[in-house]
Amino acid sequence: MRPPDPISSAGFNEREPMARDPRYDVLFEPVKIGPLTTKNRFYQVPHCNGMGYRDVTALATMRGIKAEGGWGVVCTEQVEIHPTSEITPFIELRLWDDRDIPGLARTSEAIHRHGALAGIELAYNGMNGSNFYTREVPMGPAHLPIATFFNDPVQARAMDKQDIADLRRWHRQAVARAKQAGFDIVYVYAAHGFGTLHHFLSRRFNNRGDEYGGSLTNRTRLLREITEDTKEAAGDSCAVAVRITVDELIGSAGLHKEEVREMIGLMAELPDLWDFVLGGWENDSLTSRFAEEGNQEPYIAGLKALTTKPVVGVGRFTSPDAMARQINKGLLDLIGAARPSIADPFLPKKIEEGRLEDIRECIGCNICVSGDFTTAPIRCTQNPTMGEEWRRGWHPERIAPKRSEANLLVVGGGPAGLECARALGHRGYRVTLAETSAELGGRVARESRLPRVASWGRVRDYRLQQLNKLANVEIYLESEMTAAQILEFGADHVVLATGATWRRDAVARYHLQPIPTSADALVHTPDDLMAGTKPSGQVVIYDDDHYYMAGLLAELLVAQGCCVTLVTPASEVSNWTRNTMEQHFIQKRLLEMGVVIVTNRAVSEVRRDSVATACVFTGGPMELAADAVVLVTARLPNEGLLLDLTARRGDWESAGLRSVVAIGDGRAPATIAAAVYAGRRYAEEFEAPAIGDAVPFKREITGLTPL
Ligand code: ADP
Ligand code: SF4
Repeated sequence: MRPPDPISSAGFNEREPMARDPRYDVLFEPVKIGPLTTKNRFYQVPHCNGMGYRDVTALATMRGIKAEGGWGVVCTEQVEIHPTSEITPFIELRLWDDRDIPGLARTSEAIHRHGALAGIELAYNGMNGSNFYTREVPMGPAHLPIATFFNDPVQARAMDKQDIADLRRWHRQAVARAKQAGFDIVYVYAAHGFGTLHHFLSRRFNNRGDEYGGSLTNRTRLLREITEDTKEAAGDSCAVAVRITVDELIGSAGLHKEEVREMIGLMAELPDLWDFVLGGWENDSLTSRFAEEGNQEPYIAGLKALTTKPVVGVGRFTSPDAMARQINKGLLDLIGAARPSIADPFLPKKIEEGRLEDIRECIGCNICVSGDFTTAPIRCTQNPTMGEEWRRGWHPERIAPKRSEANLLVVGGGPAGLECARALGHRGYRVTLAETSAELGGRVARESRLPRVASWGRVRDYRLQQLNKLANVEIYLESEMTAAQILEFGADHVVLATGATWRRDAVARYHLQPIPTSADALVHTPDDLMAGTKPSGQVVIYDDDHYYMAGLLAELLVAQGCCVTLVTPASEVSNWTRNTMEQHFIQKRLLEMGVVIVTNRAVSEVRRDSVATACVFTGGPMELAADAVVLVTARLPNEGLLLDLTARRGDWESAGLRSVVAIGDGRAPATIAAAVYAGRRYAEEFEAPAIGDAVPFKREITGLTPL
C-alpha cells in the first residue's frame, strides 16, 4: 500500500507544560472548611460506583487516583450507617459496626496519601430501601410504600420518638467510626430523596402531626438535631457537611427554592459546609441530552449569601472558565464534580499545569451511573481505566512503555481504533491508523450529529488531540484496507476496529429470524439516516435495541417534518436508559414532540405502505400505516476483513504478520464505552506476559469467618 501523507506527526510531549493561566488562579485558592483547609477548590462530591463493600480495595484505589489527580477533597459514595437501612441490590458502602472501619480506612488513607481531604457521606436511606438483605422493616416519616426504582411490594413504617432517638444515636456512632476510619469531612445527607433526613424535610413524604411534621421548622427539626449531634461527635478535628436538595422540581408539593432558602436560614451557620444538589439523582445528574454544563445555576443562585460557610455545588463542570465563573460570580466556593472527575481524575492537575488540551471532558452519557444500576464496577465512556485501577492496574494517565520495536496497524478510526492507537502510541510503539472515510470518529462522529448529543464528539476530540502529539503514530484517512493491502503493508500486528452495521431484517431480541418484508417497502436503518437518508410522511420506528438510538432518530425525524410512530416490544421507550436515568426524560420529550408510542408490540411484517404488528403477550394483530420503516434492531460486526485475513493465514508468515485481532464493535457490537475499553485493553495487554486461563484481573475474596 502507498498511503497518502499522514495527517499526524507532531511529537508527543514536545512542548513544555505551560504555566497555569492566571484566570484560573482562583480555583487553586485554599478554602477553610470548619477546622480544616482544603488546598484548592476542586471537590469530588460523593458518587456511587457499583463497587462499594464488594470491591473495597478497587474502590479505595479509584478514590486515591482522584486525589493524585489534584482534587482537594475526595468523598465516598453513600455509606449505610445501620442494618435497618440498606439499599440492596445497589452496592454502596457500609459502616454498621467496627468491623467496617478497616475497609473504609483504606479509602481515607489512599486519599490522604496525595494530600487531599477525605469526605464520607453517611446515609440512612429509610423508606428509600426495602432492606431485602437484612429483612428489617424500613422506617420513614410516615406509613408509605418504599420509594425505590423498582416498586418493591414493601412499605416503611412511621417512626416514633424512640425510632428518632435510635436514629440519632446510630448517626453519632457512625460519626465516631468515620473519625476512627480517618475521614476529615463527615456528611449529614438530606438530598436526592435518598434518605430519611430528606423525607422528613419534604412535605411530599412528611405528613406527621407531631413536632417533626407540619411547619418548615418542624420538618427541619430532625436535620437540625442530627447536624448538632454530628458537630458534637466530630469535635474539632472533623468538618461537618450538610447536603440538601435545593428544589424537588414539583412546585409547592415538595421542597422548592423559597422554602429551601428559609430552611437554610434556620440553620445557616450550623454546618461547616453546605453541599447543594438539584432534585433527585436523575435531576442532579442529567445527561448532556437534557442539560448543558452549569445547568443548576438558576437553582443555586443566591443561596451562598444565606450563610458564611463555604458552599459546593455541581453542574458537570469540565471547563475551567465555567468553574472560575462560578467562583467569581459568588455562586459557589468549591467546584463540585462527580462525572467530570470520573472522566478525568486528573482534571485539576491539567488545569494547574496549563494543559487544557489534555482534559478528557465528560460527555454526559451516564454510562458511569449504569454501573451502579447494574451493580457492576463503574465504567466510563471517556475514561476506560475507571474501575480498573486496582483490578487491572490501569492508570488514567500512565501506561507501561513498549516492550519491543513491533509496529502495528490499526484498521478503523472509531472509538475502539482511536483509543487503541492512542494508547499503543503512548506506550511508544510505531502505529499506523487507517480509516476508510474522510473523517475520524466512526460511530461517535456519526452519532454526535444526532439531536443534542454533540458532546459525544469529545470521545473523538480528546483522542485526536492526543494522537496529534505522537510522532510515532501515523494516521491515513480515505484509506480502505483490504486483506491484500494489509499483508502488503508489513505490520507485525494488525488490530481490526472496523465497527458494525445495523441490520435490515429486524433480527434482534424479539425476532431471532428475519421478518417478511415486501420488496417495494422503504426500509431504513440507523446507518442510512445518519448517512443522510431522509424519509418523509408517516414513519414507523421499530425499536428492539432499547437504548438511545430509536429515541434520537425519532427526534431527528420529527425535526425533519415526519409523523413518527415508535413501536417497541418493551413496555416503555428506550427501556435500558433506566440505567442512565434518562428513560423518563426521553419518553416525556418524545410525547411532547408528538411521537406516537406503541409499546408491548413487535413489528412482524413490513409491507409497501404499512407494518403489521403483534402484541407481545397475546399476539393480537394491529396494522399501522407507514410510508417508511426504520429498524433499530441488532447490529452485525463488520468482520469481512477478519474473515479474509483468516482465510489467508498461510500468507502471514511471508508478510511478517504475527497476529490479527478484532476489537470493539467489529468483534461484537456494544456501547461506545465498550469500544473505547476494548481499544485500551488491547493496548494494555499487548506483549504483556501470557496469563493462560487465569482470571484476567484481581478480585477481593471475602474473608471466611471460622465456622
Ligand atoms: P468501534 O465503535 O468499534 O470503534 P466504529 O463503527 O465506530 O467502531 O468505527 C469503525 C471505523 O472503521 C469506521 O470509521 C469505518 O469507516 C472504519 N473501517 C471499517 N472497515 C475499514 C477498512 N477496511 N479499512 C479502514 N477503515 C475501516
Ligand atoms: Fe461522563 Fe459518560 Fe464518563 Fe459518566 S460515563 S463520567 S457521563 S463520560
